[in-house]
Amino acid sequence: MLRRYISRFLNLYRIDAGDMALMRAQYAAYSRRIPFLYFILVTNSLASAWTFTRFAPPWLSVYIPTLLFGVCIWRGIWFWRMRNVTFNDADLLRQVRRIVALAGLLTLGFTAWGLMLFHYGDGYAKGQMIFCMSLNVLACAFCMMHLRPAAMAIITFADVPFTIFFYFEGHETYRTIAVNLVLVSVAMVAVLLAYNRDFTRLVGSRTEMRRLSDENFRIANIDSLTELPNRRWFFSRIGEQHAKAVRTRQPFAVGIIDLDGFKPVNDTYGHATGDRLLIEVGKRLRDIGGEVDGLTLARLGGDEFALTVTGDVSPDALKALGRRIGERLRLPYAIGSAQAQIGSSMGFAVFPEHGDTPEQVFERADYALYFAKRQLRGEAVLFSAEHQARIRDDSVIENALQSADIEREFSLVFQPVIDTRTGRVTGFEALARWDSAVLGAVSPAVFIPAAERTGLILGLTRNLLTKALKVAAQWPEDVRLAFNLSAHDLCSPESILAIIAAVNASGLSPRRIDFEITETAMARDFSAARAGVDALKALGAGISLDDFGTGFSSLSHVHSLPLDTLKVDRSFIQDICDNPASFKIVKSLAALCADMGLTCVVEGVETADQLALLKTLNCDRVQGYHFARPMKPEAIAAYLANGAGRAVA
Ligand code: C2E
Ligand code: MG
Ligand code: MG
Repeated sequence: MLRRYISRFLNLYRIDAGDMALMRAQYAAYSRRIPFLYFILVTNSLASAWTFTRFAPPWLSVYIPTLLFGVCIWRGIWFWRMRNVTFNDADLLRQVRRIVALAGLLTLGFTAWGLMLFHYGDGYAKGQMIFCMSLNVLACAFCMMHLRPAAMAIITFADVPFTIFFYFEGHETYRTIAVNLVLVSVAMVAVLLAYNRDFTRLVGSRTEMRRLSDENFRIANIDSLTELPNRRWFFSRIGEQHAKAVRTRQPFAVGIIDLDGFKPVNDTYGHATGDRLLIEVGKRLRDIGGEVDGLTLARLGGDEFALTVTGDVSPDALKALGRRIGERLRLPYAIGSAQAQIGSSMGFAVFPEHGDTPEQVFERADYALYFAKRQLRGEAVLFSAEHQARIRDDSVIENALQSADIEREFSLVFQPVIDTRTGRVTGFEALARWDSAVLGAVSPAVFIPAAERTGLILGLTRNLLTKALKVAAQWPEDVRLAFNLSAHDLCSPESILAIIAAVNASGLSPRRIDFEITETAMARDFSAARAGVDALKALGAGISLDDFGTGFSSLSHVHSLPLDTLKVDRSFIQDICDNPASFKIVKSLAALCADMGLTCVVEGVETADQLALLKTLNCDRVQGYHFARPMKPEAIAAYLANGAGRAVA
């Protein structure tokens, strides 16, 4: 029992290293009071020293107090210099221990000095000394209230010797002072303990509140899957960076990364594997963030990531960074038993060169990414003057498209597809034409992407298909219709249903139709595109993979889709006579088609030499200016009647 009380009493002097947050708050509160503490101590004691110079020898009235004041001033300066330093836990503990030890030592020093001086004084001087000493103890304990062991050391090392000293001094008044001191000291300890409990509780609840608000901040700003900062954080970050860049005139860059080939992985192996792949991508990006100064990375959502760069944002530096990220993300991913490989395309834009506001810089980076995706897949593209001009052109086209009379301004021309062996016309490919009331003739290579961007493509496709079906219904039974579908058409169930309805309403047998699709649709959303392909296949139509060999052709698509035809892109034919590589590619594609039972159509045949070469490769069908340019529907009957495909023979 007694031991328990003793141990509880001794605990009052113990420094609790178990709660460093509390200790940090105690240290902060204590350091704020340091100037007042030393001011009170020095002025108070200086007043007594001054009085006692008349009575006591100099070593006691001058030298010892000078030494004590020196220690106080040295500590005061030390605290002033350390006011902005944040200590780690170990250093903080060391500092607090030092404070408590010094509080005890200084109290002992001042108490011993005061008691030694006491005898030299007359009645008045003794009165001043008692007043000064009591004030010192009260003030110091008060200033050190947050740091209980220090306050306890002061009360103990001052009041205990005083009480003993005055009690045995022999004078009745002094004895009263001693009793008074004991009672006041006990009350002071009680107040101190109550205050300390409240302070500890307050710091505890504040720490908890800070922890909760930190946690909320984390949840609101961190992407839970990859643990990278999220879209919200990223936009507030570029906002801050913009404000800073305006002030300091230092440029910064924004980059957007889009993974190439992520969707097929997600579709083939499932979402859990897709998530693990994204986690690994996040980890690789975080690693790069740690290696490159001034680089911060975030996940915008899906397979899109973003970054900001400060410091060197020259085109060379950004290209090098883009290469570094691209190379790292391209390394194979081992996810469970699966091995996956993906690529990435990137777009960069720089403030203030490419945009005035953070939103504009982001949009420009997005445009550069869009450009990379379409034209330089797998690479990092920096926004340029050429893009700027394109944006202007794009918006002109988009505006004209929005106000176009689709029924009247859009028409179709048809290009024959010829059987290489017999020279017979096997079908016609329908190609869209736009004679804009505002802009004149616009190429489909321009208006199809614009229609996709503006969401007009579905209506346009429906209109063109209806027109194409009407024309094809006039043709002989053995002539097929090839019709191009955009990625948006293929991935939209609504559009697929409208296509099926249009075919059924036309009276043309679906078996006479080939829908041409490109791999862009597969990259967009493989499962939706696959569902579209299956629905068209179920209708009875044929499926052709158009422009094969460009961009990001993947043999896995050839393998996994129910294709009938592969259309070899015309870029290989252009130089097939001079470039052995093109020749070999076409040769292998023709062989691949033969092996897989697909019809091989070679597009863009312009010369007899090209045709002769293609014949040696056993390509099934050909298409190109060498046979006929795309023609108006009215010209088809005459073309078929007047020796179509003569050029083949
Ligand atoms: P595509 O489907 O690969 O069509 C072939 C393109 O090559 C056509 O260009 C055609 O006129 C052109 N061409 C044919 N033979 C030759 C040749 O010997 N030499 C050269 N240099 N070019 C030749 P066009 O009509 O400008 O169409 C461009 C692309 O626009 C098409 O490429 C297709 O992807 C798209 N497109 C055209 N019409 C439609 C449509 O109705 N819907 C959709 N979604 N896309 C369409
Ligand atoms: Mg086509
Ligand atoms: Mg093509």
